[in-house]
Amino acid sequence: MNHTQGPDIRDTKAPSGPIEERWEKRKFSARLVNPANKRKLHVIVVGTGLAGGSAAATLGELGYNVTSFCYQDSPRRAHSIAAQGGINAAKNYRGDGDSIHRLFYDTVKGGDFRARESNVYRLAQVSVNIIDQAVAQGVPFAREYGGLLDTRSFGGAQVSRTFYARGQTGQQLLLGAYQALERQVAAGTVTMHTRHEMLDLIVSDGRARGVIVRDMVTGEIERHVADAVVLATGGYGNVFFLSTNAKGCNTTAIWRAHERGAYFANPCYTQIHPTCIPVSGEYQSKLTLMSESLRNDGRVWVPLRKNDSRAPGDIPEQERDYYLERIYPAFGNLVPRDIASRAAKNVCDEGRGVGPGGLGVYLDFRDAIGRLGRDAVEKKYGNLFEMYERITGENPYDVPMRIYPAVHYTMGGLWVDYDLQSTIPGLFVIGEANFSDHGANRLGASALMQGLADGYFVLPTTIGDYLADGPYGDVDEEAVAEAEVKVRDKIERLLSVNGTRTPDSFHRELGKLMWDYCGMERTEESLRKALERIPELREEFWRDIKVTGTAEKLNQVLEKAGRVADFFDLAELMCLDALVRTESCGGHFRAESQDSDGEALRDDERFAHVSAWERTPGGPVLHKEPLEYEYVKMTQRSYK
Ligand SMILES: Cc1cc2nc3c(=O)[nH]c(=O)nc-3n(C[C@H](O)[C@H](O)[C@H](O)COP(=O)(O)OP(=O)(O)OC[C@H]3O[C@@H](n4cnc5c(N)ncnc54)[C@H](O)[C@@H]3O)c2cc1C
Repeated sequence: MNHTQGPDIRDTKAPSGPIEERWEKRKFSARLVNPANKRKLHVIVVGTGLAGGSAAATLGELGYNVTSFCYQDSPRRAHSIAAQGGINAAKNYRGDGDSIHRLFYDTVKGGDFRARESNVYRLAQVSVNIIDQAVAQGVPFAREYGGLLDTRSFGGAQVSRTFYARGQTGQQLLLGAYQALERQVAAGTVTMHTRHEMLDLIVSDGRARGVIVRDMVTGEIERHVADAVVLATGGYGNVFFLSTNAKGCNTTAIWRAHERGAYFANPCYTQIHPTCIPVSGEYQSKLTLMSESLRNDGRVWVPLRKNDSRAPGDIPEQERDYYLERIYPAFGNLVPRDIASRAAKNVCDEGRGVGPGGLGVYLDFRDAIGRLGRDAVEKKYGNLFEMYERITGENPYDVPMRIYPAVHYTMGGLWVDYDLQSTIPGLFVIGEANFSDHGANRLGASALMQGLADGYFVLPTTIGDYLADGPYGDVDEEAVAEAEVKVRDKIERLLSVNGTRTPDSFHRELGKLMWDYCGMERTEESLRKALERIPELREEFWRDIKVTGTAEKLNQVLEKAGRVADFFDLAELMCLDALVRTESCGGHFRAESQDSDGEALRDDERFAHVSAWERTPGGPVLHKEPLEYEYVKMTQRSYK
């Protein structure tokens, strides 16, 4: 796949001046819309996870006329409900040295100096408001004996700033956002459409003006127009088929917006989470996360000897290698995810992995149970232990958990400016769907923070500046009809192939290819192989896909086929992006670029930029957004 290089892209909305004042400055300069006019302005929000749910609720509360979509049967089933471990905020309740500046610093460093300073600083500032907002909604965060909210530590930080609700933080936060959303539904400011899938973006006179959706129950194709569109449609980790994401997570909404002109930023930045239950067989279709919070008390180890088949309890202390504590004494088991994942891969590659196929390491609570008692461990992690036991049949109170890295999060997404607006005017992108504030590696507990910062606080302010010029008048009928015809044609094409293979079988094959060639470690050779094989497999897909049923009613095979078709195109762009970025940074590890200790070696001279891809009929065009660091000095990351 060839590409060309276009002119650099700049974030023209980011204010200048002292970093602490930039968000205040932007809030003040953003134009306001008077309350009477807000009612006349219509905003479509696609997605009801933490980002979309909080955004729709807040926009409704502000008085805008909002239409919200999700493909689940209820907004509260969005994938955000799966989040387990917690949400970061610079409250410093513990007095352990935390501050907005430290959260900013940790996040820029954690992202391996590939995120924008202005955005990350704003995220750290807004983090404190999120906790207040959630508490006011009644989110039952864990509390200490004295009544203060409790916190725990997550990777990449030496302070304890992660607020949590047992192992169900996402669920509790989502219930809060959902209640706020339903309040607006009842008030008539938000109209909710569940079980509707967005299949195209309507762009009229260069502006995002609506969406084409399919009613997943009746099959009806509907058009909805508005003055602005917000995509909060989550991440695309399921391009790897096996991931910790909910099965429904997909790229269709952002990919089709990309086809309409929205640039796609850093598509290759994928987060591999170190603590997941290892793959157990060929026919598995889902991987399960064991929350990073477990690394607060669990110790990661493998046998010192290769191919040691003894049961863990029979391996004496001096024959164990607590390799994270050994290699990274300063952060120990709490190194960031990219580092912990690669370290696990390395010990397994050395032949010291445990469990079937040697693809696993131990996460051991023996010492924590000895120190704190079983009850205390159960209070903190009980539901995670239970989930582990149900899946593996092993009791982690008695034997160490076995874990292995798995695809978990995508730092890439649609390019947005400081206002969260994409390269298509009127198209805003929030939450995991945008390329976000996490650079090349997201720190644990920062996704919920970013999604809620975007939805409750940032977007509702910045979108006003765009809407202040609205209403934008009638939408060009031709643009709507063209988008609708495109959607119908694609559905028709999928149904008419009538081949022999299921969408899942293609998806599984594509996912394996991506994991093998564009997974935890990438090389020029592996990426070139993937770029050769993906178009062949895509061609096979369009020749041999079998979609049973019809388009006129519920048809999950059809839904899947459409999503897999988009995954093919996205996979190709991911591999191209990974190929062009010959440095290693964060979750993107190019084997050719490592230091003498095997750590990721950045090339700041050539790659201190965001890669923003434009899709054109002549092939992908790469635009670079240079990244500048004024407040955090770019250094080689060290957690030793
Ligand atoms: C197992 C697991 C545990 C996690 N734990 C944590 C944690 O402890 N802390 C943390 O910070 N992060 C955690 N994360 C990450 C975090 O949960 C996600 O990044 C975050 O919830 C994403 O929120 P979102 O609102 O952007 O998207 P989502 O919650 O994925 O919501 C997407 C929404 O978009 C809708 N949608 C998508 N496409 C379409 C379409 N085409 N048409 C209509 N609707 C569409 C869906 O219906 C849904 O409503 C975890 C992730 C996983 C997988």
